[in-house]
Amino acid sequence: MTRRRRIYEGKAKVLFEGPEPGTLIQYFKDDASAFNNQKKGTISGKGVLNNRISEYLMSKLMEIGVPTHFMKRLNMREQLVHEVEIIPIEVVVRNIAAGSFSERFGVPEGTPLPRSIVEYYYKSEELGDPMISEEHITAFGWATPQDLDDMMALSLRVNDYLSGLFLGIGLKLIDFRLEFGRLYNEHGEMRIILADEISPDNCRLWDVKTNERLDKDRFRRDLGDVAQAYHEVARRLGILPEAQQAEIVDTTRAASTS
Ligand code: UDP
Repeated sequence: MTRRRRIYEGKAKVLFEGPEPGTLIQYFKDDASAFNNQKKGTISGKGVLNNRISEYLMSKLMEIGVPTHFMKRLNMREQLVHEVEIIPIEVVVRNIAAGSFSERFGVPEGTPLPRSIVEYYYKSEELGDPMISEEHITAFGWATPQDLDDMMALSLRVNDYLSGLFLGIGLKLIDFRLEFGRLYNEHGEMRIILADEISPDNCRLWDVKTNERLDKDRFRRDLGDVAQAYHEVARRLGILPEAQQAEIVDTTRAASTS
């Protein structure tokens, strides 16, 4: 790991130069942050779980024709991905009111929305990721109207598919955040593909029966059992081999007692 060239280090992941041009290695850390970096911590085992969960969800999405940057998982904490030109916009899709939406519009958390709502935020830590409209995006040249159409269509497809997938394992997909990038082929043609990760770090997932939160809100709101919640999502998805399940349970137990 130390000999590889580090391209970028974010809050929860590190990107290293990949083995081939046009590829990167995405390394999942246990670090967590919230509220624009004001709250920081470590969730033991999170990186391993998110690597698996994101691999699973991205692979499923590719099976239904959603293009993503995911190529293959390399080991417990790393995956090989296509290098893309990241579009500096966070796309949030909401099905049920929660978090900043509930605060902004005074809608109690847990209220189903009349239809899925798509919001855009400008990726800028120093500005605190402000909410933006399509007008801002096209006027500032962050994305073209065609890019936006593609991002919107892909986001709604991802929402439909993942809502059903999670419902099948007793989880409500309350909301989630996506990032997209531009991928160019050898003829210079560009397409918009899904990038980053899909995991309990950037989805809100509530148990259908109890409304228990199995996502990063447990960290944001100091609800405890954070790693156990991520583990439960992975377990319900059925993606942890027996041996590794035991290992992760051990680490998360150790983390919760320390
Ligand atoms: N989200 C994210 N990264 C961000 C902001 C939000 O992944 O920088 C996700 C978050 O996990 C939730 C959804 O986007 O699933 C909507 O988050 P919200 O706008 O309610 O913000 P929050 O309450 O997390 O501050």
